[in-house]
Amino acid sequence: MPEAPADLPVLNPATEELLATVHAATPEEVDRAVRRATAAQHRWAALAPADRARLLRRFAAVVDTHVEELARLEVAEAGHTLGNARWEAGNVRELLEYAAGGVERLTGRQIPVAGGIDVTFLEPLGVVAVIAPWNFPLPIAGWGSAPALAAGNAVILKPAETTPLTALRLAELALEAGLPDGLFQVLPGTGPGAGEDLVRHPGVRKVVFTGSARTGKRVMALCAEQVKPVTLELGGKSPNLVFADADLAAAAASAPMSFLDNAGQDCCARTRVLVERPVYDEFLALVEPALRAVVVGDPADPGTQMGPLISARQRERVDSYVGPDLDVVRGNAPEGPGFWYPPTLVLGARPEDPVAVEEVFGPVAVVLPFDGEEEGVRLANATPYGLSGSVWTRDGARALRVARGIAAGNLSVNSHSSVRYQTPFGGYGESGLGRELGPDALAAFTETKNVFISTEG
Ligand code: NAD
Repeated sequence: MPEAPADLPVLNPATEELLATVHAATPEEVDRAVRRATAAQHRWAALAPADRARLLRRFAAVVDTHVEELARLEVAEAGHTLGNARWEAGNVRELLEYAAGGVERLTGRQIPVAGGIDVTFLEPLGVVAVIAPWNFPLPIAGWGSAPALAAGNAVILKPAETTPLTALRLAELALEAGLPDGLFQVLPGTGPGAGEDLVRHPGVRKVVFTGSARTGKRVMALCAEQVKPVTLELGGKSPNLVFADADLAAAAASAPMSFLDNAGQDCCARTRVLVERPVYDEFLALVEPALRAVVVGDPADPGTQMGPLISARQRERVDSYVGPDLDVVRGNAPEGPGFWYPPTLVLGARPEDPVAVEEVFGPVAVVLPFDGEEEGVRLANATPYGLSGSVWTRDGARALRVARGIAAGNLSVNSHSSVRYQTPFGGYGESGLGRELGPDALAAFTETKNVFISTEG
């Protein structure tokens, strides 16, 4: 008999207090969950589309009445600032509402052909596994689950080991809203345990994975064995290109939070600040006080801009990138318990140094000078990733040229915005595969079936 997986301790990263101990799913429990999900999915797909839409809207409404509770739970288990956590809980409601609007609009096509009528149907895949990371437990749970459910699938969500509590609460709210039993299940567990058991299970017909590139590659290889569709949202090392003609005050004022939001544990964090050489010194003079002014502390205090890292392990990992030989500008961080790390700008790194190329996933960014548009774009593209990026310039033609030239899925001009539920999101290169969110989100959870009906004879 293989040993049962150990329970998962859930810590408050701002205090290191134990919040809960959560049972980790065994292989038998994973198998049982997939069977329940399969049965629930058949019933769900047979419902009238209007009824499925109504139930999802009801789920959204129940989430809406629990936004504050979910937000407080996110603050406690993930260390997110209260403002962010409220937005994140509200985002789950928005995702459900948006997906509910798609249920009755998930139309196929009628294609002109000779000798008959040709129509396509967008049919649900069956059971979808959503494997979520710890950096945005609530929104990422919603990104995969809401459109998958709306397209007629069942969902099994495996939250990250360190952040299962909001997901478990969402599953309770789904039942309260009247979603069929077994349709939306949450199975906490380890990655190599319940995570891999789900990916390998033949009853799971699609995997939506968000996390590290390393694990994403493994998940993709496992999916290949069963020719199972997979969406991957992996890491990033996104550039923030500041041209000499930019509104420098605005670019410098916004640069710190563009990589410090969520303590830098954000796949879209603009962690490579590339500044055109003529304004490099001026930019530094503006950005340094902005960095030092960022309020780091108790995430439950509404005035806090940055909380702790998720774990001691993550803090060690982040610190390993900032060697003693590097020139750094540091902001503040509290002393005492909690996984704190100060906002950090690294100056004088070489473009090929690990801190300038690899995803640090903490409040650390490098500042590098560049000469001219061509070199700026070349440096922007000099990582294996391609998730996001920002371009700061007053020249509209250049803004478009550079945005088109950067090999990344989500660009913003004179802004650092990346994610909206209405627009597609995903990466180039090692940042991932496939797109989530936006108008096509539901279609990603369907098979296209083509049917030809002869009108002859
Ligand atoms: P991870 O990729 O190991 O874990 C993400 C999720 O995958 C978790 O739910 C985990 O339990 C699960 N998982 C792990 N191994 C698995 C496997 N073999 N099969 C199926 N599921 C598995 O990430 P991590 O260890 O939590 O973080 C490490 C680094 O990953 C971070 O420092 C950061 O660089 C990156 N990361 C990126 C994102 C992102 O949004 N792109 C999110 C989290 C982490």
